[in-house]
Amino acid sequence: MKHFWIVCLWMSFALFCNTTTAQENGRQIVILDPGHGGMDSGAIGINGIKEKFIVLEVAKEAIRLNKELFGNTLDIYLTRYNDTLISLSDRTKLIKILQPDVFISIHCNQAERKAAQGIEVYVQQANATMNLDLQSKSENLAEAILSEFDIALGFKIRGLKYANFQVLRETQNICPAVLLEVGFLSNREEAGHSMKKESIRGYAMVVLQGLYQLIATENY
Ligand SMILES: [Zn+2]
Repeated sequence: MKHFWIVCLWMSFALFCNTTTAQENGRQIVILDPGHGGMDSGAIGINGIKEKFIVLEVAKEAIRLNKELFGNTLDIYLTRYNDTLISLSDRTKLIKILQPDVFISIHCNQAERKAAQGIEVYVQQANATMNLDLQSKSENLAEAILSEFDIALGFKIRGLKYANFQVLRETQNICPAVLLEVGFLSNREEAGHSMKKESIRGYAMVVLQGLYQLIATENY
C-alpha cells in the first residue's frame, strides 16, 4: 500500500513537471528505469555487490552529467529515485502517463558460466501490433549504446538482442525503448569494475551519448 501512494505522489509530481517544464521548453523527455529495488536486489555479484544499487547509481549519475556537462538538455525522469521496489506494471504506468521521447531500462547481467562477459542491449521482439518505425529507432539507440561501450569503455560487445520484456512490450508504441545490461556481476572482472565510481560515471556517459546520438539523427 505504501508503494501505491509513493507511485501516486510520483505520478502527480511527474505530471506537474511535465506540464510546467518539458512541454514549455521543448526538451526531450527521457525515462531511465533502474531495475529492481527494495527487497528485489536483482543479480548479486561474485563480490557481493547488488544490481539494484549499481543501476540506481548509473541512472542518478546520468541526471548529474546531463546537468553538469550538457546544460540539462534532456528532461530525465527515473522510475525510482531510491532503494524502493516498484512493480513492472507501475513502471509501465509511469511510461504511459509521461509519454516520454525515449525509455531506457538499466540492468546488470549474470550467468552460470563465470567467464561470461560483455554488454547486451535488448529491443522488443517483433509482433503484430508493433510500430516498426519505433522499433527501428530502438535498434539505432541500442547500436549507438553498444558502440560507445566498445569504443569509449573497451567492453566486449555481445550485441543487440530481441526479447519480450514487459517494460519494452508496453512501450513499443510510445517511444524508442531499450533494456541495457551493463556487464556480468557473475564475472569477477566486470563485478569489480562496477564497484568503481568512475565506471558508474562511464556507464552513465555512454547512456547519455546514445541518447544524444539518437536525438541528433532522428531529428526530434
Ligand atoms: Zn535486472
